[in-house]
This record gives sequence, structure tokens and C-alpha cells, in this order.
Amino acid sequence: MWQVVGQSRAVSLLQRSLEQGSIAHAYLLVGPPHVGKMTLALNLAQAVNCPAAEPPCGLCNACQKITSGKHADVQIIGLNSGGNSTEDKPHAEISINQIREMQHSSSLPPFEGRYKVFIIDGAELLSTEAANCLLKTLEEPVGGVIFILLTTNGTMLPATVVSRCQQLELHPLPTSEVKAVLNEQRSIEPKKAELLARLCHGCLGWALSAAVDDSLLQQRAERLDRLLALITGDYEERFDYVAQLVAQFSQGRGLVQEVFDLWLDWWRDLLLVKLGSSGAITNIDFEATLVDMARGYNLAQIRAFINSIQAAGEQLRQNANPRLVLEVLMLRIPGRSGG
Ligand SMILES: [Zn+2]
Repeated sequence: MWQVVGQSRAVSLLQRSLEQGSIAHAYLLVGPPHVGKMTLALNLAQAVNCPAAEPPCGLCNACQKITSGKHADVQIIGLNSGGNSTEDKPHAEISINQIREMQHSSSLPPFEGRYKVFIIDGAELLSTEAANCLLKTLEEPVGGVIFILLTTNGTMLPATVVSRCQQLELHPLPTSEVKAVLNEQRSIEPKKAELLARLCHGCLGWALSAAVDDSLLQQRAERLDRLLALITGDYEERFDYVAQLVAQFSQGRGLVQEVFDLWLDWWRDLLLVKLGSSGAITNIDFEATLVDMARGYNLAQIRAFINSIQAAGEQLRQNANPRLVLEVLMLRIPGRSGG
């Protein structure tokens, strides 16, 4: 059984390749964070190493070892593997040494399975040297080795690397599908399932993590409090906040993107409330606050600020100066008009 939920297109393509014995030697799985890229990669690693009649069975020794990260032939390469310290680097990246180690390992025959599988998590974080080194490996495929690159953004990888991989897109699930999966797990209260299904925007992995780890919802509440305080805060408070975000931006863009998404959700919710569609909001646990706040703004103000957040996000993606972009955004937070 493929464990990944809702990615039927990618799964059936892989399933067909398996049946036809035409598995590619390199895959690039592209999709937003927590959409299921790692789950699918591990499933594929199971599928090629599982002895069952209909792999991946999920039950045999090989499948279970892969799930628990204990299979000798399945390795994950990422920022947190191979003793790669990110603390002293302004921009965390996957180093050439990690790729060289992987190359060496890939030149040895499988230890206990049929295939060696190397999963590169966050492939957009490969350093230039590491990407060039990887390219050489991809250009000279050897039997019994599969590389699976995972990325949130394929355009941040060298085109030469992308062209050597079979690309599979993973898409966010409909909210109803996420809710159905969460409701199958009886330990999650229906109300919480509803909230998580909306908050995750189709990325089931986040909802499943947040269901068992309260710190994720707590973190969201803290970030939201912080953002709401900025609306009434003076410029000094807003610029202090920018300074903190910029410091985090240099360590990893993902976190800043999460804050942006939260901010965008909030203002979209205000728009929905203003338009009389409260039933469609994301932050259902803050509905009363949203209704109250929406009274202080007119539609044009809300729309303009949503555009500003989107534009700022786009500028950051295009490598604009983060401090400048965020400070301009802070100046654009609309004042309450009572409209
Ligand atoms: Zn199995």
C-alpha cells in the first residue's frame, strides 16, 4: 500500500514504471512543504526493495526498516544529516562533502536490499559545487541506484540537474480530503480536525504533525499575536519585528515564508468576513476577533494590503533586500478607518 495520500497521479505513474521494470534512476519530486514528498520518496524506496507480490506492502522487514530509517540501503541527505552544522553559515546549504560521501556510498553494491536509494531533501539547498558534483553522478547512471530529489521549488535547481530527473509534481489536497483523513484518526476531535484541515492548506503532513504536537498550534498562536500587535504598534515596534525576521531570513527562508502565509491568511479572512463569507475563513478559532477587526477596515484597504503582502513575498523570492521589502510592508499596514 502506498502510504502517501491524494497523490494518485504521481503514484500511478510510479506504479506503472515498477510493473514495467522501467524505474528511472533519478526523480525530482516538487511540491509545497508537508505535501507528502518524503512519504512518497520512502514509499518508492520500499516499493523497489519490498519482496511482496504487490510492493510496497508496508509490513515486511524491508518496508518497516525503511519507515523507521534503519535500512542500510536507504539514505536521506539534507541540511541536518552528515554532521553538517548550519550554525556558522549565513546561508545553510547541502555541502559538496555530503554529495561526495553519497557518491562513494552509491558506488558500493546494495547491502541488504535490491536498490540503493538516496533521498536529497531540500535539493534547492545544494551548494553550486554540490549540484555540479551531483550532476556528474546523474549523468553516469549505474544500475541498482535511485536518486530522489525533493524540492519546494524546481526553478531554484540548475536546469542541467532537473533535466536528468523524471519530474513529478505533488499538489495540495482538497480541504475535505484532509479532513476525512484526520477524522479517520479517532484521537483527533472533530473541531480540531476542522481547524487543522483549514490551516494546512492541503498539506496533510503539517496537519498530521500538528494533531500530535501541540507546539505547532501554539507557535501559530504566538506568531499571530505578534502580527496582530503590529497593527496597533508604532513604527519602532514594527521595525524591531522586521529586524528579527531578517535575522531569521538569513538562516532559512522557510520560516519567513510561514509568517507571510499566516499574515496572508489573516487578511484574506478579514476580506471573507467583510464579504459575508465567514464560513470560508481559515482561522476559525479566531472568528470573533476577525469579525471585530473587520469592522475597522473597508474593502479597499483590506484588498490593498493583501496585494502588498503578495508583492512582498514575490520580491523576496526574487532576492530583493529582505529588510527593505519588510519595512515597506510594515509602512503599508492600513490604519483603522471604521469603514
Ligand atoms: Zn514490504
